[in-house]
Order: sequence, then structure tokens, then C-alpha cells
Amino acid sequence: MNDAATVAARLVEVRQRISAAGGGDDVTILAVTKAFGPAVVDVAAEAGCSAIGENYAQELLGKRDALAAHPGLAVHFIGQLQTNKVRQLAGLVTVYESVDRAKLAREISRRDPGAAVLIQVDTSALLGIEADGKGGCPLAELSELVEVVQQLDLDLRGLMTVGPTEGGAIAARPGFEAVRSAVDRWGLSVCSMGMSGDLDVAVECGSTEVRIGTALFGSRPVTVWRDQGR
Ligand SMILES: *Cc1c(COP(=O)(O)O)cnc(C)c1O
Repeated sequence: MNDAATVAARLVEVRQRISAAGGGDDVTILAVTKAFGPAVVDVAAEAGCSAIGENYAQELLGKRDALAAHPGLAVHFIGQLQTNKVRQLAGLVTVYESVDRAKLAREISRRDPGAAVLIQVDTSALLGIEADGKGGCPLAELSELVEVVQQLDLDLRGLMTVGPTEGGAIAARPGFEAVRSAVDRWGLSVCSMGMSGDLDVAVECGSTEVRIGTALFGSRPVTVWRDQGR
């Protein structure tokens, strides 16, 4: 893992990439800290990050004590979430970005009433590729889910999507454009898309939040706890 000064310098580089892609200072940089130990929380806070992103409930719970020292640091949950994990995450998560089914939305509204949420959208059908197991509500079923979420005790802020693994930034563009139009169609404000490899095209397409791991913290260590369930 890198020290805070290195991460701070990389934050500047990411900010420059956002700006070169036509994005303003209002584009949020979510620092994705998954796979690094609890010490990464201090590094991120010290480097000036305002929010961290985590994918796994178990791992996030392991960072709870580290997070307690930085009450100003927002926590975004960005991974696939099992309904039986929601209860433990209530109060710790600031924004649930990966809501992709009605059952999960209902559980969040029950355990963490009023919580800020994004709906994760899967655009693989549009891109003509297989869904890659990263979750997400198929674009074709989005209206239905938006209506469900709007009727629950949840604060629906926007949409999130993950670009395709293959084909790089070029392959990602049609999906990003579709998600941006959906954000506008529903009058939402947050459009969370773009990672280290494709943030430039995501910002060109109108992303308001990029989720950056590798470009800030370097490559992730191989972890074993992932096999022990999310
Ligand atoms: C891991 C992850 C990221 C960050 O990916 P990098 O390529 O390391 O920037 C962003 N979003 C989600 C949903 C992720 O799982």
C-alpha cells in the first residue's frame, strides 16, 4: 500500500484526467479501498479523500474501527450485496450504490430507513455481451425497479454502472451513454460510472462520480477472505 503523500499526488492526477475529459470539480472521486487492510482508511483520509468505496460486507465491517476515527469520511457500498448482510451494515454505509433488485431495496429501507441509494444498472444486453456477474438491474427492467424504490423509505439519488471488462473504454461508451440518459429521464442527480481504466470516457458521457481504486492505491493485494463469503 502507498503512503498518504503518494495517494494525494495520484488524486491530483485523477483530478487532471477528469478535467481533461471535460468534467468539473463537482465530479466526485470515490476512493475504492477494497482488498487493502484497515490502515488504508487512514491513508485515504490523510490524502484528502472524502469518500471510500467497499465491495464486501465482511471486509467493510473489519474497517469499522478505522472508520470511527474519521467520521467525516463517507462510506459507499459498491459490491453485490446479500440481503442478510444489510442489518450489519446499517449505520455504517452512507450510500448503497449497488441496489439491483426489489428485495434488496426493501431490506435496506427496513434496516436503514431513509438511506441514500443508487440503483446499479447492467447494460450488458445493450452491449451485446454476457452479464459478467457484477450484478445490476438489466436496463430493460430499470423503470420497474425505480418505481419500487421510489415508494420505499429510501432516498434514490441516482444510478451506478460498471463498464465491460473487455474492450476497454471504447466498448464502455454506449452503456455509459444509456445510463446517463436514464439518470436524466428520471430527474436524478448522481451518475456513478468510470473506474481507473475508463474514467475518461465515463466523464465525457456525463459521470458525476468516478470510483477509483488502482489509480490511487496501486494494484490490489490478492486476498483470501473473499472465499469466506461476502
Ligand atoms: C473495484 C471496483 C472499482 C475500482 O476499480 P479500479 O479499476 O481499481 O479503479 C470501481 N467500481 C467497482 C464496482 C469496483 O468493484
